[in-house]
Amino acid sequence: MAEYDGIVIGAGHNGLILQAYLGKAGLKTLCVERRHVAGGGLATVEDPRHPGFLHNTHAFFQRAITAMPWYADLELERHGARYIEPELNVALLTRDGGALEWWTDIDRTVASFAEFSPRDADTLKRWQHEFVPILRDILLPESRSMPLPPEERRAALEKTAAGRRLLEVSALSPLEFVHQEFEHPTVKAGLLFFNGLREVDLRVKGFGHHIAALLASPAKAQMSRGGSAALARALEAAVAESGGEVRLMTEPARIVVENGRAVGVETADGEMIGARQFIASSLNPTQTFIDLLDDALVPREIREQVERFQYNLLAPLFALHLNLREPPRYAAGTQRPELAQALMVIMGLDHVDQFHDVVRHHEAGTIPPTVMWGACPTLFDPSQAPAGHHTAFMWEKLPYRLNGDSANWDGARDEHGRAMLALWRQHAPNLDDAVIGSFTRSPRDIVRELPNMREGDLLVGAFTNDQVGFHRPFRGAGTYRTHIPGLYLCGSSSHPGGNITGLPGYIATQVILNDLGISAKEALA
Ligand SMILES: Cc1cc2nc3c(=O)[nH]c(=O)nc-3n(C[C@H](O)[C@H](O)[C@H](O)COP(=O)(O)OP(=O)(O)OC[C@H]3O[C@@H](n4cnc5c(N)ncnc54)[C@H](O)[C@@H]3O)c2cc1C
Repeated sequence: MAEYDGIVIGAGHNGLILQAYLGKAGLKTLCVERRHVAGGGLATVEDPRHPGFLHNTHAFFQRAITAMPWYADLELERHGARYIEPELNVALLTRDGGALEWWTDIDRTVASFAEFSPRDADTLKRWQHEFVPILRDILLPESRSMPLPPEERRAALEKTAAGRRLLEVSALSPLEFVHQEFEHPTVKAGLLFFNGLREVDLRVKGFGHHIAALLASPAKAQMSRGGSAALARALEAAVAESGGEVRLMTEPARIVVENGRAVGVETADGEMIGARQFIASSLNPTQTFIDLLDDALVPREIREQVERFQYNLLAPLFALHLNLREPPRYAAGTQRPELAQALMVIMGLDHVDQFHDVVRHHEAGTIPPTVMWGACPTLFDPSQAPAGHHTAFMWEKLPYRLNGDSANWDGARDEHGRAMLALWRQHAPNLDDAVIGSFTRSPRDIVRELPNMREGDLLVGAFTNDQVGFHRPFRGAGTYRTHIPGLYLCGSSSHPGGNITGLPGYIATQVILNDLGISAKEALA
């Protein structure tokens, strides 16, 4: 029987980061991955009908990757990773030809807000100023460490003025925060869109600080040169250099537990692989606790918590990908030439009230009026298309269960892709002639490829008050340890959650090293 110090389940970026760190600490590790390729949400594929056109089918906008501790610790640039951070980071195109712009330079962002409302521009500056230290001294360190129990966290925060301010702002919902602080409907819509719609239910109290933190963050969207998968390749190289192995097309059938301790994995092919020290699952709670553990090993209260685990209603994405003769040229660009170099472009969103509509449609399983956002990656990285050509994509948030059943997507996909293209053409008329090829991907396709993103939830678990921090994935379970000694969690269902942050894998690494009595500092020096 093959035997390792540890086995990681799932070779997404969180699993690979954990594996590379533990390899550097001297442990012999194996990662088992069900797909034919590692990287999970870091996926770049070539259009089979149009060779040379590369498309990032999952994560594309990656926030502050180059500032992440693991990016430096694992020397990912030495392993080939490179990031690009375009200065005009986000542009929201309004129906009347205007644009709300977010720049890496805050003064340019403030100037853009002032075109809509001078008062909102002042408010933006004020919140940015106030939240810079809160973000730097509290929120960033929290996102990189094991979460404290809420009472302990509150007591610690209450000791400082910055902490008390954070508690006060977070008592609001993002919607309340935005309505209270800003006046212009497009500014409000933009603020909610950038943060709220992607991550939390805008109506839920406890998340009011998210928008202020976003305003203060120096971290903007970055893109990976060579496609998102290039980061996965760099992580794989770091794993290989540390002596780790990744076994593709290998699905675990069960986690083997002996004398109460996790000691290995049995694959779907019936092979037993031993783990002397640990097993770390980057999968969702249903997969880890229900699919992979024998019933007798899961106490009723844990089973019930797994069954109650919620996925984000608003997370599923529909994607339209284009192969192009030339990049989209936005009509608004005649007045604003800078739009030709915008990274993220948002269309269909003018007014904050549209959010209620979007939520209502998601609850009903129907398609709302289109709000979409995307990019033309080849403007910044020509390597993602044949010479002189381009790729571009748009995403839209759409319900996983279309008219009650996700299977309905297979029949509705193409028609919806055409509707998105029609809106895109209104803003970029040159698309009438520029499109060489296209394809769509529905929320159902996401789950087919990455079943851990249950119900199309690309964040692998809702951000609600009882599923964040110390309570992610369950109440009191935010320790990365499970009820079975030797079995750990390291994926997006753990704090601080989904997206390409690598932080669940990073924090799980510290926990496992600590439990093995290995000093992280010494092991990784
Ligand atoms: C369309 C789309 C767009 C997105 N856009 C962005 C974006 O712009 N920015 C951003 O930051 N994030 C984005 N995300 C979200 C991001 O991709 C995820 O949150 C992130 O990939 C989660 O990382 P992870 O390592 O926890 O899990 P994953 O990346 O999902 O990796 C999990 C791995 O486990 C494997 N696996 C699953 N089940 C099993 C099993 N039973 N046995 C073995 N292996 C298994 C999977 O194949 C996968 O390789 C997007 C996601 C999608 C789908």
